[in-house]
Amino acid sequence: MTSVNTGNHKKARAIKPSSRRPAKELCSECGLCDTYYIHYVKEACAFLNQQVAELEAEAHGRSRNLDNPDDWYFGVRQEMMAARKIQPIEGAQWTGIVSTIAIEMLDRGLVEGVVCVQNTKEDRFQPMPIIARTPEEVLAARVNKPTLSPNLSVLEQVERSGMKRLLVIGVGCQIQALRTVEKQLGLEKLYVLGTPCVDNVTRAGLQKFLETTSRSPDTVVHYEFMQDFRVHFKHEDGSTETVPFFGLKTNQLKDVFAPSCMSCFDYVNSLADLVVGYMGAPFGWQWIVVRNDTGREMLDLVRDRIETQPVMSKGDRHQAVQQSIPAYDKAVTLPMWAAKLMGVVIEKIGPKGLEYARFSIDSHFTRNYLYVKRHHPEKLDAHVPEYAKRIVGQYQLPAK
Ligand code: FAD
Ligand code: SF4
Repeated sequence: MTSVNTGNHKKARAIKPSSRRPAKELCSECGLCDTYYIHYVKEACAFLNQQVAELEAEAHGRSRNLDNPDDWYFGVRQEMMAARKIQPIEGAQWTGIVSTIAIEMLDRGLVEGVVCVQNTKEDRFQPMPIIARTPEEVLAARVNKPTLSPNLSVLEQVERSGMKRLLVIGVGCQIQALRTVEKQLGLEKLYVLGTPCVDNVTRAGLQKFLETTSRSPDTVVHYEFMQDFRVHFKHEDGSTETVPFFGLKTNQLKDVFAPSCMSCFDYVNSLADLVVGYMGAPFGWQWIVVRNDTGREMLDLVRDRIETQPVMSKGDRHQAVQQSIPAYDKAVTLPMWAAKLMGVVIEKIGPKGLEYARFSIDSHFTRNYLYVKRHHPEKLDAHVPEYAKRIVGQYQLPAK
């Protein structure tokens, strides 16, 4: 860190009231504004300054090719695959590929710390960002905290600690802000391990979701919107509960998702070096997107601990997406028997593999486009990236 930057940071600290969030209701609580890097917020915040293409070019050497529909959906990449740990990590969100890579990077001395998010002692879903320095601390951060998490709030500690090599694990909005301030962190090497992210909620919103959807909200330890068109809840006693997407009480849940997530077009974490999710892979497998050489270096560390298969794509999502647009708008909820039946039919004939990922991206981008158009019309043109405009342009949206 140069003296010039330290000076800037000090100035920024002076102008920082703790509650300050320039993105206002669109703020995703990424944590940047809890630090003196708030100085860079107008440029860095994903909700104030959409700059995916420019940052892709810096991080990956090119931005999306707009003539290639796979680039619209999955971003800049060298390779995609389905993978799973041969020996899954107990209690991880999926098979624990993210935690395994982070632990390996610490063990081999490639990094001195890992930005990740544990939970508080009192509440398993209350996020507590940390810089992990040991494998145990990384392991304690496994599993999703399905709530907005201020991961970047620990960035000041990075600079103060004098750390030079860092891994950051995070979701798209966090990573856009991170990429913007990357050069100010005084690091020799930054590694970025991203997960896809969608439909996140505040802690209060999560409670409402659990209470309206699960039979036993207080015992849920883990949940995921799975590729079989059901939400899978895992409970403390090890039992699994499934609820079909089509049976969700959309009328009660419509306002549960954070406005930031209703305005987000970076589902697939465009700016991470390596992305680990699940939605482009068969059920039970994880989906890996290697975006650049740094991402490849990270994945290579765990190749002997994962099995892989090529990505596949089956079905045609277009009709299902088109039909979901007015259904979501009118907050239609099917009776549970019909929802289960619909779930079974869709699972049999519906989109699979990458086509399922496209289905999910299309459904969310059309919904979010309408949200921004209705709530922030003045932001629409600059905030929606060109690739997202192409995706949304495939569908007929209501005029208002
Ligand atoms: P683990 O080894 O269990 O590690 C999980 C890591 O996630 C931990 O290192 C932790 O630090 C980090 N983390 C946990 N909560 C948060 C948070 N709130 N913000 C930032 N980082 C966090 N994948 C898809 O393919 N499609 C989706 O729609 C999708 N939605 C997601 C929504 C959210 C809110 C999150 C956090 C993730 C989502 N993912 C999605 C990613 C997916 O659920 C898994 O996190 C990913 O596949 C890694 O699994 P794992 O077993 O390797 O992770
Ligand atoms: Fe600040 Fe992050 Fe909120 Fe934007 S999203 S206002 S950068 S805390």
